[in-house]
Amino acid sequence: MLGAIVGDIIGSPYEFSRVADKDFELFRQDSHYTDDTLLTLMTARGLQTGESYALLYRKAFQAEPHQSWGLRFMKWCESPDLSPYNSLGNGSAMRVSPVAWYFDDERQVLEEATRTAEVTHNHPEGIKGARATALAIFLARRGADRDTIRQRIGQDFGYDLDRSMQTLYETYHYNETCQGTIPEALICFLASTDFEDAIRNAVAINGDADTLAAITGSIAEALYGGVPAKLENEARRRLPIPFIDQLNAFQDAAAGVREP
Ligand SMILES: [Mg+2]
Repeated sequence: MLGAIVGDIIGSPYEFSRVADKDFELFRQDSHYTDDTLLTLMTARGLQTGESYALLYRKAFQAEPHQSWGLRFMKWCESPDLSPYNSLGNGSAMRVSPVAWYFDDERQVLEEATRTAEVTHNHPEGIKGARATALAIFLARRGADRDTIRQRIGQDFGYDLDRSMQTLYETYHYNETCQGTIPEALICFLASTDFEDAIRNAVAINGDADTLAAITGSIAEALYGGVPAKLENEARRRLPIPFIDQLNAFQDAAAGVREP
């Protein structure tokens, strides 16, 4: 979950601009949290309090309407109708990471991932994106290696994970759908040598940078056993106190339900 927030902040200046290569500036003056962080924190809160994900996600929008929210998401937040709008956007995957840390049972992780997705992203691809991301994090934190994760996610969700980073550099274009983001985020993670390298891969393919880095970071955190302290500190410096409190409270709670 922290990995998603760190990825979001690092990717934020590059959402609407391109980088030349992986050697970009990690934290800039204008690096900031975006909707990915806000919704991830709301998922964590929902897990802990049992509040409705739909209402929490709306709350996040109402608190910070100036963020670069998806157009349809904004419309949904402003509508009296709470029913989902069949989205297949990558938002279902960028906000799901806390689910993978909260439960110690694969079936529960997948079921809850579906619940977080279907309040807005009830399109099959939207649900699939959330489930695939949550399962990848869960497998990684339970000690699975890269090949196991690649095989399992490729098999269960039908994503093409056999492309190289070079192929992504040459062929990938900005894409906000689940099916055009999650496989690529997974490839950026699978090809990485450490947490920072994973984030650099995700930004360097020049897509929806903050969300790609959030998803990649959320999985990388689990495989590499955390986020390097230097990056964590830079990210925490950029969060308001109530966000830090929510993050800490969730990390304590999640640690409480984790197997020893
Ligand atoms: Mg964003």
